[in-house]
Order: sequence, then structure tokens, then C-alpha cells
Amino acid sequence: MRVGILGGTFDPVHTGHLIVAEQAREALALDLVLFLPAGDPWRKTNRAITPAQHRLAMLRIAVDGNEAFGISDVELRAGGPSYTADTLESLAGERLDDEFCFILGADALADLPNWHEPERIVRHAVLAVAPREMQELNATVLNLPGLQARVRPFDVPRIDISSTDIRARVAAGRSVRYLVPPRVEAYIAAHGLYAGASPSAAGGGSGAGG
Ligand code: ATP
Ligand code: MG
Repeated sequence: MRVGILGGTFDPVHTGHLIVAEQAREALALDLVLFLPAGDPWRKTNRAITPAQHRLAMLRIAVDGNEAFGISDVELRAGGPSYTADTLESLAGERLDDEFCFILGADALADLPNWHEPERIVRHAVLAVAPREMQELNATVLNLPGLQARVRPFDVPRIDISSTDIRARVAAGRSVRYLVPPRVEAYIAAHGLYAGASPSAAGGGSGAGG
């Protein structure tokens, strides 16, 4: 089986994630795309991350009805920070017949040298890279051992939606309709998520990778 993995904080999951996952599925002929929410992301310490239970609930709502989409909660169950390299390695160890593809935005690829042992990630998975607000790919990225041969850019419309922007809109009382799936929008409202967040909170960066 060909398995795509989309790691992230998903705080909250949004339409951009879903479109990227679907286009990667098609472009790389993936049988399954697993959304991999990060436990307690060790690289996003500048803001409070929404409790895992809410991020997971929103993901479940978002992937519901798509048979090719699933969720891996291994990093949530581990509690605390996990390294992507370790997670991929243990998934690869459990699923010996599967081929792995790690799906990520160009911003996350640019940040890859700062992750924990990125060469181990590249050893276990090809990297399907979606265009995003392009942070320059410096030489450090391209010099990662074995990286260039493992990168698979794929064709997906550039979607300028981010969780950071969604949190800011909710905090400002603005609409996020169509930026997230309808039931995710309802979930955010029902649980009062992001309402108290400061709209200027920088958040983001390159995601939860590590
Ligand atoms: P935040 O603003 O909190 O960082 P985010 O929108 O970047 O949130 P993440 O959970 O950090 O979402 O992203 C998970 C993965 O999905 C990363 O690899 C990221 O690059 C990718 N991604 C998220 N949104 C998009 C998008 N609109 N286009 C392409 N890739 C995206
Ligand atoms: Mg991000």
C-alpha cells in the first residue's frame, strides 16, 4: 500500500489541508492519507496549543466520509513532543509492506533542517511538497543528504489558508465559513475555541514538524 502522511498541529484543520491531502493522494497514487496530529509540539512554544482532544475531534469531523483519509493518533498517545523521524520509523516498522510519502507545504520543507534528524525522515519517505507562501529553500535544505532525489513537488493550486489566520479571524469575531469544513466551523463555535486568542499571536511558523 502507498501511504501518505500529513503531519501538523491542525489547530484547527482547514480546507487547505484537505485540498493538499487530496491532490497528493491523486498525484502520488496514494491508497491512504493519514493525518498525523502532533502531541505537544516542541517547536511552537510561543503560543498555547489547543488541547489534543479538540484538535483530534475536528480532524475526525474533517476526514469523515473520505475513505482514503484516516488519522494516526500515535503522537497524541505518546503524550508530549514526538519527533517525526521516530514516528515515521515506527510506522515503517509496523507496516513493512507499505511505501511512505510525507506530505508537507513548502514552508515546512524550508524548515526541515531544523527538525530532528531530517535525514532519517528522508530515508523512510519521499517528500511530497505543496507550494505555499514560499520561504526560500536555502542551501541547507538542498544539502541535506539524500534530499533532492526524494522530493516530489506536486500540482496543487496555491491556497493561502492557514490555521494562524483562522485563529485570528475567530478571535476578531470574523467569519471562517468555507475556510474550514462546515462541521469544523460549528465545532469551533460550540466549544468557544480561539475566541480568547490574541489575533496578533504569531503562531504558525512552519508547523509542528520536528
Ligand atoms: P499554523 O498557521 O498554526 O502553522 P498551518 O495552517 O501551517 O497552521 P499546520 O498544522 O502547521 O497548519 O500544517 C501542517 C502541514 O500542512 C504543513 O506541512 C504545512 O506546510 C501544510 N499546509 C498547511 N496549510 C497549507 C496550505 N494552505 N497550502 C499548502 N500546505 C499547507
Ligand atoms: Mg504551520
